[in-house]
Amino acid sequence: MSDTQYDFDAIVVGAGPAGVSAALTMARSGLNVALLERGEYPGAKNVQGAVLYSQMLHEIVPEFWKDPQAAIERPIVEQRTCITTADSWITVGYKSLKFLEGVPNCYTIIRVRFDQWYAAKAEAAGATLLTGVTVREVLKTQDGKIFGVKTSEGDELKAPVVIACDGVNSLLAQKAGFRGELRPSEVALGAKEVLALDPGKIEDRFSLEHGQGATMELFGGITEGMLGYAFIYTNKDSLSLGVGCKLTDYQRKGIRPSDHLERVKRHPALRKLLEGAKTLEYSSHLIPEGGMKSMPPLAADGFLVAGDAAQMINPAYREGSNLAMTSGKLAGETVVEAKTKGDFSKASLEAYVRKIKGSYIWPDMEEVKDLEESVERSPGFLEFYPKLACELAHMRFSADGKPKKEHMWKAFRLARERGLVRIARDLWPLRKVAI
Ligand SMILES: Cc1cc2nc3c(=O)[nH]c(=O)nc-3n(C[C@H](O)[C@H](O)[C@H](O)COP(=O)(O)OP(=O)(O)OC[C@H]3O[C@@H](n4cnc5c(N)ncnc54)[C@H](O)[C@@H]3O)c2cc1C
Repeated sequence: MSDTQYDFDAIVVGAGPAGVSAALTMARSGLNVALLERGEYPGAKNVQGAVLYSQMLHEIVPEFWKDPQAAIERPIVEQRTCITTADSWITVGYKSLKFLEGVPNCYTIIRVRFDQWYAAKAEAAGATLLTGVTVREVLKTQDGKIFGVKTSEGDELKAPVVIACDGVNSLLAQKAGFRGELRPSEVALGAKEVLALDPGKIEDRFSLEHGQGATMELFGGITEGMLGYAFIYTNKDSLSLGVGCKLTDYQRKGIRPSDHLERVKRHPALRKLLEGAKTLEYSSHLIPEGGMKSMPPLAADGFLVAGDAAQMINPAYREGSNLAMTSGKLAGETVVEAKTKGDFSKASLEAYVRKIKGSYIWPDMEEVKDLEESVERSPGFLEFYPKLACELAHMRFSADGKPKKEHMWKAFRLARERGLVRIARDLWPLRKVAI
């Protein structure tokens, strides 16, 4: 390949959080980078809840929240978790102004705005952003080294390294021979609406000070026996409402996510929060759920994979965009080092794998790698435990003229229906997401 005329030092496919982080990191180090995006503009096709943890973006764009143009909505001061049945729910919430100190913990974002702002940072650093460009193939030498991409228009773009940041259904990882099509069991399907609501009403309904934000996630009955959750997040003048469940569960139950979302809106825990809110947009998207077990190889000759394309997501903590940013940044740093050495071989690019293993991404993904299976093995989590928890709470907060001791015995009998050993066995895997 020594006589190949390269168009760029590196090609990044996909201008989501992973791709922009990679392109920005490399462009800042003076590399000639192409950032290819199939959407008309970055964010045009992207869907996220969307909560964005700040620390990882701060490491790339220091103090981004002070940028008056930063496309962020509200800093989150309260996070609530609800365990639901059809007509009852238990809410556990944590509110703290400490979330606003130093690097504010997280913000809500609207991806269509955020992605454009973020990609503009990469362009300002010198990356060439090409939108409306869909990559269809990777260019490979006979001995398998990747040296560029081919677009749907038939154009060939060449570079000694390509970084696949093309999201959950990564065509590039497939074309590179890293994996086949994703199986339905490896993904969840998320459906989301953004609903316009007056900022004052948002603040009243969520008990927020001016400009602050809250999140609420709902488990149990609201997912109708499917593995997943519903969420509502506060933006400046809108709410993001969504639901995400395993694709195999939607298929098994024959439920359309859009119909599910309509029913979620009518749940009494959400009805009043949404009153009068007007739907602005609907979108749906896959979420990688296979975790570590579905992770493709991360490096090959002239090739790296980051973000959702590498299945890097931590659903137990609703983290994905931050893993995408960190992995994109680490991939970018690896390429900068490879450029200095003039070595884009697999052996050289495997420094990226070591960086991922040395970051929070690897241990976090390892920690939750069996969690989904544990929950699936114990369907009680989806219906029995939420019902039990609500019944126990009902007794705790009722005065029905009976001695409290009788309540205790009733509670014990309810728990015994399931079996105390089984309950302990069911709950044990949850220790991994307790903190
Ligand atoms: C409903 C839902 C809720 C979520 N909530 C949260 C949350 O609250 N917090 C959180 O951190 N994460 C959340 N996530 C996950 C988060 O959205 C992803 O982890 C994150 O977007 C991954 O970033 P990425 O850059 O790897 O991929 P993406 O954001 O998917 O970006 C991939 C980009 O590649 C482009 N592309 C794809 N194929 C090609 C091609 N062939 N040629 C050119 N361009 C291409 C796409 O158009 C896109 O712009 C949620 C996801 C969903 C679906």
